[in-house]
Amino acid sequence: MKKNNEKIAIIGGGISGITASVLLIEKGYKVDIFEAKKNLGGRAGSIQNKNITIDIGQHIFLPSYKTFLEVLDKLGLNHYLNIEKKLNIPIQYKGKKYLLKSRIPFFPLNMMFSVIGYKNLKFSERIKIIICLYKLSKLKDNNSKTSFLSWLKQNGQNNNMIKKFWDIISKPAFNSELNKISINHAKNLFKLMIFDYKKNVGICYFKKPFSEIIEKNFHSYLKNNNSNLFKTEKIEEIKSFQKKISLRSKKENYIYDKAIVATNLGGIKNYGENLIDNNVKTDSIINIYFWFDKKIIDEDFISFSDSKLEWVFSDNKLIKSKKEYRISVSISAANNKLKIQNEKLILEYEKILRKELNISKKVKTIRSLIIRSPKATQIKMKNNNIRRKNKNIYFVGDWTLSSLPNTMETAALSSKKLIDNHFK
Ligand SMILES: Cc1cc2nc3c(=O)[nH]c(=O)nc-3n(C[C@H](O)[C@H](O)[C@H](O)COP(=O)(O)OP(=O)(O)OC[C@H]3O[C@@H](n4cnc5c(N)ncnc54)[C@H](O)[C@@H]3O)c2cc1C
Repeated sequence: MKKNNEKIAIIGGGISGITASVLLIEKGYKVDIFEAKKNLGGRAGSIQNKNITIDIGQHIFLPSYKTFLEVLDKLGLNHYLNIEKKLNIPIQYKGKKYLLKSRIPFFPLNMMFSVIGYKNLKFSERIKIIICLYKLSKLKDNNSKTSFLSWLKQNGQNNNMIKKFWDIISKPAFNSELNKISINHAKNLFKLMIFDYKKNVGICYFKKPFSEIIEKNFHSYLKNNNSNLFKTEKIEEIKSFQKKISLRSKKENYIYDKAIVATNLGGIKNYGENLIDNNVKTDSIINIYFWFDKKIIDEDFISFSDSKLEWVFSDNKLIKSKKEYRISVSISAANNKLKIQNEKLILEYEKILRKELNISKKVKTIRSLIIRSPKATQIKMKNNNIRRKNKNIYFVGDWTLSSLPNTMETAALSSKKLIDNHFK
């Protein structure tokens, strides 16, 4: 491996900071990475609750998350991933289950057949969805202010098709209602995750909480490459100092040649001479976990159309003790629920869950937990709202790629683009 004498600071131990570290080390740089919290992973991370580690949300990915998967592979973490290469989504509507499923590995036949076989819609509606998907794949970049919802309606999609197909895929992917997503944004997501990938995309997930997975291997990767991780070290300020960059935390000052800011937007109070326009649209995700004394569903997940449940996940495959069965309900675009008290939300969702999954009264709820992520997604409203006056300070993170939604792949990709273009 070639050596590079420049020493780089990375601020933030989320997916973008981890990716930047791995890619810089590959190029021969030494890095120091600073994370304010106890756990790595950021918004893809986990928390401790009653002596167990729980992901703060259901961190789902697709086989088309190329950059993200490459980084996990470099860290030797493949065996912790449940990679599903076949599309197979059970979708429940009014108590009945339907499948969005494809076993054909060739694009676009895989997509066509999965939609054709989706009996939750009339045959004529399924054909209209296929035509609309085709039109979406042919759309060119434009600055149209049209929302995704309006575009769908202009292209022959009725409310039934929107609720039973487009909402299921797009609302959690964007963490936003369809009328708040621009058509350009929607097109970019489908292009990156589905159309350009050209193979089947199944729903993939981690076999263990993400912070636990990343911890050990990332630590040894850094150590073996003369690099360091500083946890619970919040950087408060970045400054220039005689052509170097100085970082200040409560405990210490550090000096580097260059710094990469991989925090969530607003993570640092003072970015040196650089100006960040905080004009972002944020939305929340709420996850409610229920532990039952009996198994509730056989599937790993079920999506619900036209229901408050949206997506429900089970940990059947991961469970160690057979005495407790965990179900999590993931609620996206949840800003309007932030003011509702935990107890009220838990009661409401347990009631819906019991009704929609037909859970017998004999099944006991052992406990529940609610995890709120109020700024789960941060979408930049303008393209040019980072004004970098100091050229040795760089910015990465999902919010920096304004053409894509906030995903783990977007976070990883933002770092890959930076390292490929600016670090030799
Ligand atoms: C509940 C939830 C569910 C989600 N589900 C999915 C999903 O299923 N699939 C998907 O692809 N994406 C999902 N996302 C989005 C995805 O997690 C994010 O897009 C991605 O993790 C963002 O990574 P990042 O590195 O850009 O930012 P972050 O994850 O926000 O990382 C920033 C890091 O910087 C640290 N930091 C901040 N300030 C400082 C400071 N001053 N000093 C030191 N460290 C600092 C933070 O603690 C954090 O660890 C979800 C997000 C949430 C919240």
